[in-house]
Amino acid sequence: MTGFALNPRAVGIEEEGAFAVLDRALALKAAGRPIINLGIGQPDFDPPGHVLEAAAKAAREGPHGYTSPVGMPALREAVAADLTGRFGVGVHADEVVIVPGGKVTIFLAAMLFGGEGAEILYPDPGFPPYREAIAFSGAKAVPYPIREDRDFGFDAEEVLSLVTPATRLVIINSPANPTGGVVPRAELDALAAGLEAHPHVAVLSDEIYSHLVYDDADFASLLAYPSLRDRVILLDGWSKTFAMTGWRLGYGVWPKALVPQIRKIITITHSCVANVAQIAGLAAVTGPREPVERFRRTFAERREAVVAGLNALPGVTCRAPGGAFYAFPNVTGTGLSSAELAERLLEEADIALIPGESFGANGRGYLRLSYAADMAQIEEALARMGEFLAVNGRS
Ligand code: PLP
Repeated sequence: MTGFALNPRAVGIEEEGAFAVLDRALALKAAGRPIINLGIGQPDFDPPGHVLEAAAKAAREGPHGYTSPVGMPALREAVAADLTGRFGVGVHADEVVIVPGGKVTIFLAAMLFGGEGAEILYPDPGFPPYREAIAFSGAKAVPYPIREDRDFGFDAEEVLSLVTPATRLVIINSPANPTGGVVPRAELDALAAGLEAHPHVAVLSDEIYSHLVYDDADFASLLAYPSLRDRVILLDGWSKTFAMTGWRLGYGVWPKALVPQIRKIITITHSCVANVAQIAGLAAVTGPREPVERFRRTFAERREAVVAGLNALPGVTCRAPGGAFYAFPNVTGTGLSSAELAERLLEEADIALIPGESFGANGRGYLRLSYAADMAQIEEALARMGEFLAVNGRS
């Protein structure tokens, strides 16, 4: 209690669980504990060298002033050209809005589509800022289930059944946090077809893990659906693709008519993204992509080890995630709740990971492990989990 009279909607925001786990893990580590952190969702690589060089040059030589609120023209053009090349749909620079981190596009979309009386659909389990941003806007946050038996995808019919006249936005995330699930193209086809009956509903497609897709997972971008082209907002950025989480750089591709609205909000909030970050982002998008492929291959190898290791643990089953860098094992067979297991693995086995319920009620019974850690740490963590469960698990 602060003693101040505060906005209840702001007071009601729940902190993203991953940051609390990160703080605890760092504090325990500083106190000398051999913590292995599988809780945090950020690549454990450095950004590509040419990106760092471009940023260093920009820091020395400028420009140092504000940029356009929606981003440097050269960067917007580079992003548009990149997407046009990747997805074969014409994307124009004036649809692209550069923001300080992919997350900001979620907040902007919630501000624009939300408010009293509105309903916004979001995945459960899902990235926690979806629900919090919707609720903060005053809209009703309506969860739709992400299902393990669909390889952590959704049933389009089930999503569509939740649409009402008050629904303004549906949030889709593929590849997904926290499950690594990739929504198959056929399911996106069904969603797109069903939404034709609801022309008032826009779609926020969070594709921030779109460069991290494994095996033959059937990833498709919702931006490439002609029937949705004028009502999809694409969220992506540099954090996961180029290992630039701390640079705070992301973008949204917005229906052109909405860009002036977004621009207004930016002028009363952050004004623009830091020059250096934008110039680094330009070097990333226009430069060689070999580092991105190297990151992906490294994650793919770790994924094999994590999935095999988890499935060998007593009471644990884990589907091979099609994308991102998360595994979402089902731990109901251990006889321990996911909350207790996460807590005790931290306290008794020095492993930081996140209980599934941090991502919504449907996440109960699962853990989220990030394999953005090196192979030696992953193997050590799996060995410690095995020892812990041998003593404390059901079998
Ligand atoms: N969307 C999803 C699904 C994420 O998992 C994350 C980060 O964890 C973001 C968006 C936001 O990324 P950024 O760090 O660029 O804000």
